[in-house]
Amino acid sequence: MKAILLEADWSPRPGLSLSPTQEAERKATGSQVWRHPRFSSTQLADPSPGHGQVVVRVRACGVCGSDTHCLETDPQGYILFSGPVSLPVVPGHEYAGEVVALGPGVRSLQVGDLVAAEGMLNCGVCEACRSGHPNQCPHLEMVGFSAPGAYAEYIVVDERFCWSLNALAERTGDAQAALELGALVEPISCPFNGIFVAGRGMRPGDHVVVYGAGPIGLGAIALARAAGAATITAFDVSPERIELARLCGADAAFDPRRVTPSEAVLEATRGWGADLQVEAAGAAVQTMPEIERCFAPGGQMVYLGRTGERAPVMLDALVTGAASIVGSRGHVGMGCFPQVIRLLEHARIEVAPMITSRRPFADFHAALEQSCARTDGKIMLVY
Ligand SMILES: [Zn+2]
Ligand SMILES: [Zn+2]
Repeated sequence: MKAILLEADWSPRPGLSLSPTQEAERKATGSQVWRHPRFSSTQLADPSPGHGQVVVRVRACGVCGSDTHCLETDPQGYILFSGPVSLPVVPGHEYAGEVVALGPGVRSLQVGDLVAAEGMLNCGVCEACRSGHPNQCPHLEMVGFSAPGAYAEYIVVDERFCWSLNALAERTGDAQAALELGALVEPISCPFNGIFVAGRGMRPGDHVVVYGAGPIGLGAIALARAAGAATITAFDVSPERIELARLCGADAAFDPRRVTPSEAVLEATRGWGADLQVEAAGAAVQTMPEIERCFAPGGQMVYLGRTGERAPVMLDALVTGAASIVGSRGHVGMGCFPQVIRLLEHARIEVAPMITSRRPFADFHAALEQSCARTDGKIMLVY
């Protein structure tokens, strides 16, 4: 099968201490060990399914900011992605496709089913998994980073990570449209997990603020709209993404370099502040001081962005305002995927505008280059 392969040089940063397992498996924090990344087109053997597994013919796969972070490097040549990476690997983790082969023991899927699949492969057995924290599984493998991904014609996946898109395809009457929406389920499930699983949830009538209007922030906006937010205020530095924020449900969206975010939020909420603030910009050094200035009493911040830098926080603001900060990673388990699919099936979230570019799989390299500009919503590869 045709596939894209990501390779780089294993070159742990001087002074970095790695466990013998990390050394042996060559699996560690990408930005600490992998240097001089190279993406190439290649031919790999067609996969066959093991027990409880299916083969999915990939039909749509979104280009994720994490993929961009595997192309971009720091001045020393290290990739920017800070999750666990084991190379070489086929990247790609925001995908949907059609089941084309079943392994023994598969019960819930049939050949021809359309599915979206979770991209964080938790073990299901450890204490974190069995205590309701599957995204914190210490044995987590990440599709497209430490396990084979979807920038390929086929991918093998455990049945338990797949969720049917058949009903969504029936509703849209267009299998390709359903598959492209299906490939958005992963980036929308991340804010779903952050707001409704890891966080305390939100209430209809809440004032909501979203920092960063990339796909994760846009998903947060659409979900907050569906959950009955009174107002949604969004911030992004890209004019294109400011417009997308409005299309996905924000009442107002601003460039934080032109307005002071906390002031805009206090104005939009008549001085009450934000009940829920979602950080999806990965710019906590800049956003945190603004966030702490506009918490509503008892307000909550959900941190979804990533940055290796230490952010300035005046914790006293949390005491005075009974405010809280919760972090969240991932999307696996806890009903995130099936509920997002349900929202799509019943047209309760407006996310189609998120797809701002479609490119054939053969244009992978150009799509990845395009993603570096960070002006698109989602660039979708179609197969
Ligand atoms: Zn992603
Ligand atoms: Zn586990």
